[in-house]
Amino acid sequence: MTGEGARPRPLVAGNWKMNGRRSAIAEAKAVADALAARETPPRADILVCPPATLVMVMAEILKDAPLAIGAQDCHWVESGAHTGDLSAEILADAGASAIIVGHSERRAYHDETDLLVKSKQQAVHRAGLTAIVCIGETKGQRLAGQTIDVVVRQLERSLCDATTPENTVVAYEPVWAIGTGLTPTNADVADVHAAIRDRLVARFGEAGHAIRILYGGSVKPQNAKELMAVANVDGALVGGASLKAADFLGIIAAYE
Ligand code: PEP
Repeated sequence: MTGEGARPRPLVAGNWKMNGRRSAIAEAKAVADALAARETPPRADILVCPPATLVMVMAEILKDAPLAIGAQDCHWVESGAHTGDLSAEILADAGASAIIVGHSERRAYHDETDLLVKSKQQAVHRAGLTAIVCIGETKGQRLAGQTIDVVVRQLERSLCDATTPENTVVAYEPVWAIGTGLTPTNADVADVHAAIRDRLVARFGEAGHAIRILYGGSVKPQNAKELMAVANVDGALVGGASLKAADFLGIIAAYE
């Protein structure tokens, strides 16, 4: 899809973080069953990113479901002496179709830099998967009026030159909105997403219009429709509210 005005197909992605034992598979199955039972499918792609231990089993159980399985992080090399790490290729082999990279929790608690995030994005591409690249400002940066500068700088440095609408999704997640119940105003979301879109188009040309830009940070069934209607918001990256089928379906309902 190209051209200004043509909106990319939205994506609603759930990030389970370090939550979810085997019993949680039932929640994803309930989402898949509810979607499959509908006469009209939602106008969005649906993705669930469980802990790595569940990727293979969920990809198998849900292989015919209208819902894809992704992973939450990867190493940047393909294989080797990296105890405890998982490469994009290993996750692809397990059945992941997308991998989140550069989540603010990885940036904050694992000191991940934009350069490292870019290496991970390239690793995801090397494995033939879609990278969901997260960017977003802290509360301090927002209060200091640095939001657009910070977000555009992260975008510029975290994306590689081979970025396309097929291999990459950008997720704007204000750090202060993640898991807090706080959200920016719709006008603030619109401003940041417009700045991201402008930068994507400046760097990648026409393809920049088709790269999906998700909003993430306390998206709930109650605010999803409003947030998803904001210009240049092409879906959501959802943490807490993706853990329960009813809540996640309530968010997906924004695309009915
Ligand atoms: C996230 O972790 O990506 C996220 C958006 O979390 P929450 O929806 O819980 O704010």
